[in-house]
Parts: sequence; structure tokens; C-alpha cells
Amino acid sequence: MSDITITAGKVVFFHYTLTTDDGETIDSSRGGNPLPYLHGAGNIVPGLEKQLDGLAVGTKLQAVVSPEEGYGVRHGEPMPVPREQFPGDIELEVGMQFFGEDPDGNKFPLWIADIQDNMVAVDPNHPLAGVTLNFDVEIMSIRDASEEEVAHGHPHMPGMHAH
Ligand code: ZN
Repeated sequence: MSDITITAGKVVFFHYTLTTDDGETIDSSRGGNPLPYLHGAGNIVPGLEKQLDGLAVGTKLQAVVSPEEGYGVRHGEPMPVPREQFPGDIELEVGMQFFGEDPDGNKFPLWIADIQDNMVAVDPNHPLAGVTLNFDVEIMSIRDASEEEVAHGHPHMPGMHAH
């Protein structure tokens, strides 16, 4: 069992704590369940997936991921949009992602950066764009993906799966 390593087509469960260069904790799985992902399917940021390749269960890793291999470099600036242009039945929150559409009908992601009274600042950048990501990782388990998981490109968890 212990000679299983992370390769494409494995479902990997890992614990992580994600911090910025300033030491601010952005997110952590510790205290909850380890995060599952399908290796090689782009479920996690490319810089982390690359550094997890070939690791075995029990491995601990400090992975530093540049913005280029994380959530991208920043491009463009937040734009103010009147609140009334959003559906009234949706509770808007900072960090929420939605999709805009250009005149040709191409969809692109946008994130809410700020909400002030009746104006919403809409940012073309992921909240973590331009941020160097510091992952403190421990590999908890590795198993083969099912054919269905490979076809879907993500792991399936009992009772947790919805499409
Ligand atoms: Zn699925």
C-alpha cells in the first residue's frame, strides 16, 4: 500500500493550510475532512498539482506557488455596477463569483470585490490573483479513481455528489 504515489488518475485526499506571504491564513482543511481531488484533472491550482506529483501517503510539503501557477496575475481593475443590475433575489457577498457575457456571447468570470450602498465593485480578477500561495500540505490517502470519476474529471464522494 505504502508504495502508492500520486499519478494521473489517482484520487488524493490531503490536508492543507493556505497562507499569504504576510502569514495570513486564507483557508485550511485542518479540523475538518481532508480535501479530495483527481490528480491530473486540473481540480487544484496548477502549481500545487505539479508539486504533489509523485508524492506518497504521509508526505508533508511546504509548497510555494507563484500567481502565474496559482490564480493568475492581476489584469484590469474593478468596475462599479449598480446593484439593480443584479437579480434582486440573490444575496450578494464579497468574493462571490458569477459570469458576465461579452457582445459575442462569450462568458467570462467576475468576482464581487466590494459592496457599497447601491454600488457593487465587480473585478475580472480572482480574489487570490496576484497572490503568492503558501501551502502547508500533508498527503492523507491515495486511491485509484473509478471510470466514472475519470470521465467526469473530479472525485465522487458518497452522499456529497451533485451535478
Ligand atoms: Zn461527477
